[in-house]
Amino acid sequence: MAKYTEAKCRICRREGCKLFLKGDRCFTDKCAHDRRPYPPGQHGRARKKVSDYAVQLREKQKTRRAYGVLERQFHTYFEKAEKQKGVTGTNLLVMLERRLDNVVYKLGFANSRNQARQLVRHGIFTLNGRKVDIPSLQVKAGDVVEVPEKHRKIPVLADVQQVIARRGCPVWLEADGANFKGTVKALPQRDDIQFVVNEQLIVELYSK
Ligand code: SF4
Repeated sequence: MAKYTEAKCRICRREGCKLFLKGDRCFTDKCAHDRRPYPPGQHGRARKKVSDYAVQLREKQKTRRAYGVLERQFHTYFEKAEKQKGVTGTNLLVMLERRLDNVVYKLGFANSRNQARQLVRHGIFTLNGRKVDIPSLQVKAGDVVEVPEKHRKIPVLADVQQVIARRGCPVWLEADGANFKGTVKALPQRDDIQFVVNEQLIVELYSK
C-alpha cells in the first residue's frame, strides 16, 4: 500500500492550514505551521499569482491529506458521492467522516487519524462486537466501536478519558472513555463536520 513519506508539517505548511497530523504536538507552540505560516521551500514566501485551478486543487489536496486518503480512493469517494442523492460535496465529506479511522480519532482513541489507522489495522477495535481491521470501513448509525478488554492497557489508550474531556466529541458520536466504547448516534450532517473546507471547489475541480 502506498503511503505519504513527506514530512507531515510540510503538508500543513503547503496547504496553508493546520491539518492536525501530529497529534498533541499540533496544540503546542512547536507547531511548524504556527511558527512558519508560509509554504515550504526556497520560494515559499514569494508572491505568486494563483489561478482558479490552483485554488480548487489545493482545496482537494488539503481535504485528501487531512483524512489521509490517496488520490485514487479519494476520486472513488467522489464518484460515489456524485451518484448519491443530495449535494455531492456534502456527500463526499460525510463519506470521509464515516471512515472507521476517522471515527476512532474523533472518539479520542488516537491522537491523529494516522495513528487511528494504524490501531485499526492492528485489529484492536471491534465494531458491533466483531473484530475489524479495515480503516476505510464506513460506519452506520447505531454502530458501536469498542476496545476489547485485552487491548485496553496499551499505552496510547492510557489517558483516553482526559483526551475526550480535552477534545470533546462531535454531536453525531458518543464517547464513553470509562468503558472504551463509542457509539455512532446518527450519520453526520454538513454542520457537524468541523473541518474547514469549501467542498464546492473540489466538485468544480473534478467536474472539469
Ligand atoms: Fe500540522 Fe500538527 Fe505539524 Fe502543526 S504540528 S504543522 S498542525 S502536523
